[in-house]
Amino acid sequence: MENKEKYLLSLESLLDISILLNSELDFSNVIQSAILTCLGHTVNKYGLIYIKKPLNDFFELSEYKGIENMDINNILKIESNDPFLDFVYKTKKSFEYNKGMSELIDKINPKIIVPLISKNSLVGFMALGEKYSGDFTDDDMEFLDRFSVITANAIENSLLYTLATKDTKTGLYLHHYFLARLKEEIYKSKRYSEVFSLVMIDIDHFKRINDNYGHQAGDYVLEKLGKIILNYVRISDIPSRFGGEEFSVLLPNTDEKGAFNFAERLRVIIENTEFIFKADIIPVTASFGVVEFSSLWDERDIIENADKALYLAKHSGRNNVKKYSDYLREAE
Ligand code: GH3
Ligand code: MG
Ligand code: MG
Repeated sequence: MENKEKYLLSLESLLDISILLNSELDFSNVIQSAILTCLGHTVNKYGLIYIKKPLNDFFELSEYKGIENMDINNILKIESNDPFLDFVYKTKKSFEYNKGMSELIDKINPKIIVPLISKNSLVGFMALGEKYSGDFTDDDMEFLDRFSVITANAIENSLLYTLATKDTKTGLYLHHYFLARLKEEIYKSKRYSEVFSLVMIDIDHFKRINDNYGHQAGDYVLEKLGKIILNYVRISDIPSRFGGEEFSVLLPNTDEKGAFNFAERLRVIIENTEFIFKADIIPVTASFGVVEFSSLWDERDIIENADKALYLAKHSGRNNVKKYSDYLREAE
């Protein structure tokens, strides 16, 4: 191929990558795309990506492809003060890895290290295994350097976005994000007559859990419950930590009946999950309030009415789901 043609082709694919990565704010999607693109372009056997998350003082193995025979447990993280990372940062451009540069990276035995630098700080790096055929060419290295700038910026953006929108303990969205999305749903519902529902979740007797097993155990329950909820919801649902030990899930395109079924299944999952902290088995249940949005309401109304249903669930013995329509019936 003509050199110019090749150059244009690589520019074209960089543009595609840039559009792809910059339109994505979800961290795991960004690193997934980054590593697949990189492997696809340079045609090498395996690749790993290490990232330093904002509140961590280590770089963690965040994604990898093609490393069937490696023991992952030995290569999970590198402390931020590891001299190898200074070297990666100072080198700035992709470089050939030589054995002995780092004890941990030796276990990976990569050919090339690609620094990921955004706004003058090292966000992470990629370690690439050998190519299926031949060595990395000058073109490959040039591609990697351009690619790394785009990738590092996209990763940095997604990390900041996560920090601004998600609760670090539970992995669920923060209250202000929930409110913003609730307003959006209300707007859509009023304008296009779309139905949506809100589920409020409150852990039963959480104070007792803290009192009987300690605050750390309480935190463990919150963390684990966050994971359960995240695992359970669909991609279009919006699960948040509403506050303390209260959670909310916004369910677009879902009526009261659908939301009730959603909540009831989740209630049973929580009831049947074993929460084990140190040697203690902690009994955990939660109560649920479910409400479908009515076009006469604003965001305060829907939250208040979900709370009324939740309050009814608490007063009906806890570990159950109540609908706002149940509340209205009882109030008659
Ligand atoms: P109920 O069944 O009526 O909901 O009882 P409850 O004890 O769960 O009710 P309440 O809302 O009064 O208590 C919530 C407790 O949750 C109080 C607070 O100390 C605790 N809590 C809130 N946030 C956290 C947290 O981040 N970690 C821990 N460990 N505890 C928290
Ligand atoms: Mg509460
Ligand atoms: Mg509670």
